[in-house]
Amino acid sequence: MKPNAELISIGNELLSGRTLNTHGRDLGAALFSIGIDLVRDTSIGDHIDLIKSVAQEALQRTPILFISGGLGPTVDDITRDALAALFNRAIHPHPPTADYLKEWYQKRGRKLNSIGLRQALVLEEATVLPNPIGAAPAQRIDLPQNKRCYLLPGPPNEFNAIIEKSILPELKSQYAHLTPKLVRSIHTRGIGESDIVEQIQLQNISMPEGIDPGFYPAQGRVEIRLTAEAHLENELDQHHTHLLKLFSDWLDRPKERAD
Ligand code: AMP
Ligand code: MG
Repeated sequence: MKPNAELISIGNELLSGRTLNTHGRDLGAALFSIGIDLVRDTSIGDHIDLIKSVAQEALQRTPILFISGGLGPTVDDITRDALAALFNRAIHPHPPTADYLKEWYQKRGRKLNSIGLRQALVLEEATVLPNPIGAAPAQRIDLPQNKRCYLLPGPPNEFNAIIEKSILPELKSQYAHLTPKLVRSIHTRGIGESDIVEQIQLQNISMPEGIDPGFYPAQGRVEIRLTAEAHLENELDQHHTHLLKLFSDWLDRPKERAD
């Protein structure tokens, strides 16, 4: 079975226009590279009831839920409390993380106080995933029916480092049968989206089953992007060549020419 994944991005600043939410893009690309589709990214504010209800709904749909933000030391960092209440689990101090935090603060000439130490609190039976560049670690909570929930800190560099160092390797080994989808692009210039579709229809070209087309317009150019599972490589390449020929007069990157 091919699993999909969802993300819940937590933070008032993501909704007020103060901060651009980059986690969906970065996580989507990371999961795509190992053959898992990120199918939903929900942004919500720092509200405990909202976190609980949105997480509960997501876990009814998906086996892999990522939740980012709200693991820091301040009063608006309420993600662990919300999840502890939802999963009916206690929150414990995690001594190795406390030691790591002491050292982390010390190296920066700062003293760890009781507020900073909140970052060493983890949910009962959570697996702690170290943060290679920041303070608060991530946590994996294993749930019934082979579901799991990852809690990750909000700063994008920390979020991405933990995904790359800990989460992708463990997902890759758990879902070893997965292969990344294949992508082929045709970059056009000087022809609009509707004219592209009209040309395709006039030539009676139908999209082979299992090949997903995407049309991405931007400033006089349109990228036609074809995506398919790895076992459809031949069909994908044939279709790609076909479209490269059809749009040969409009190719933005002449090196893509099929002949
Ligand atoms: P937090 O983990 O909620 O304390 O957030 C720490 C920092 O990460 C804040 O400056 C946030 O604005 C930033 N941040 C949190 N979530 C995201 C996100 N989805 N995209 C970009 N930045 C974020
Ligand atoms: Mg926050």
